[in-house]
Amino acid sequence: MSQGAILVLSGPSGAGKSTIISAASGQIGEYYFSISTTTRSPREGEVDGRDYFFVSKESFEEDIKAGNFLEYAQVHGNYYGTSLKPVREALDAGKLVIFDIDVQGHRLVRAKLNDITTSAFITPPTLGVLKSRLHARETDDASVIAKRIENAKGEIMALGEYDFTIINDSVEEATRRFVIIANAARLKQSHALQEEFVKQWLALD
Ligand code: 5GP
Repeated sequence: MSQGAILVLSGPSGAGKSTIISAASGQIGEYYFSISTTTRSPREGEVDGRDYFFVSKESFEEDIKAGNFLEYAQVHGNYYGTSLKPVREALDAGKLVIFDIDVQGHRLVRAKLNDITTSAFITPPTLGVLKSRLHARETDDASVIAKRIENAKGEIMALGEYDFTIINDSVEEATRRFVIIANAARLKQSHALQEEFVKQWLALD
């Protein structure tokens, strides 16, 4: 029986999540990176359908009504959500599904799919380092950066809800740890699969 697993990554914008995922991509087997839908505007260099599906507030709210999201949340005043259908297909195909979602999204995924979920919180070593990274990125204006910093202060309080913490001090070391966590996440089995195994184990005496 083929069955996938979920790896939730959270952490402040500017923690280096996407850099780590790309650096690790050749070392974690077949995976599906869940592309979220958002109502925020694209940043420079972001591509619709690759980084996010960028949609209007109206269209997002229609999808909520239609029950199309596995989870969604409001972050920094915009909607962000994970569409159910591609995730279900990837799980049915036995893939590791990686989410980059916030702490609210993590809670919702845990509530629905706890037994196949592993989670890691990725963060720069200190608030000060986060601030300088966000300023250096020059993709957001000062008020957006201020919002992200306030949000990060709230998010770090949820660190204890995660299985692992990845401190992104050096990208190489953070990637090395991420690869170990992703490969372990893939091996996590659902209760249904475990029960089936027990039945077969007992039957073959
Ligand atoms: P950014 O605007 O920097 O791309 O993302 C802002 C925050 O939204 C990040 O913490 C990111 O993890 C979170 N986020 C992105 N996509 C989703 C999603 O589909 N659901 C939830 N709950 N959070 C998301």
